[in-house]
Amino acid sequence: MSTATPARQVLRLGLTGGIGSGKSTLANMLQSLGADVIDADAVSRATTASGGAAIAAIAQAFGQEFIDADGALDRARMRALVFSQPEQRKVLENIVHPLVGQEIRKLALQATSRVLIFDVPLLVESPHWRGQLDRVLVVDCLPATQIRRVTQRSGWDLTTIEAAMRNQCSREQRLAAADFVVFNEGEGLDNLQHLAQALAKRFGL
Ligand code: ATP
Repeated sequence: MSTATPARQVLRLGLTGGIGSGKSTLANMLQSLGADVIDADAVSRATTASGGAAIAAIAQAFGQEFIDADGALDRARMRALVFSQPEQRKVLENIVHPLVGQEIRKLALQATSRVLIFDVPLLVESPHWRGQLDRVLVVDCLPATQIRRVTQRSGWDLTTIEAAMRNQCSREQRLAAADFVVFNEGEGLDNLQHLAQALAKRFGL
């Protein structure tokens, strides 16, 4: 996946962090301060939503029964398939990934800010990303804080949250990949806003 380098001098900043660390919150703050933000998960979801670019190819490869009444990927059916036949995940990824890359390149070329943020939850887990970025910004907090925030936000039980955390790289691996770390601990957004302002200044926004 190439993000395409615009002609002007742009800082391509990868933003990542564990579940509930505060990535989206920080991305929104930096966007308000003038950065452009591309949400890689949102782009990926859009390709398999109703009318998404991957729908026709998925119907052709897997059958129309994998498309629901609204014209979106039937995620539950696909999950069941890749659980029972793991090799089918590759087939799906070979359809979705190039389309996501294409859309991200298109969005990157439309960006106008001198700071272009790629919000990528699994950045450290997807090594191909690193070569497309100038710097990596990690949002970090204590695991107990992640659990508290996701419980409050999503109402998930502890087992589900811990399973999601186990499916991501470790905190240590993520911090080892960071050029910048924002420690988003505690309750309230004042401190995070303050850190976002300091970053914006440092990046010349
Ligand atoms: P995910 O990976 O699950 O999408 P995320 O890293 O993008 O999560 P956010 O959605 O930004 O995290 O934050 C998770 C929840 O925690 C949200 O409800 C957000 O409002 C809250 N939150 C984030 N930072 C703070 C903070 N400093 N104080 C209080 N609540 C916070």
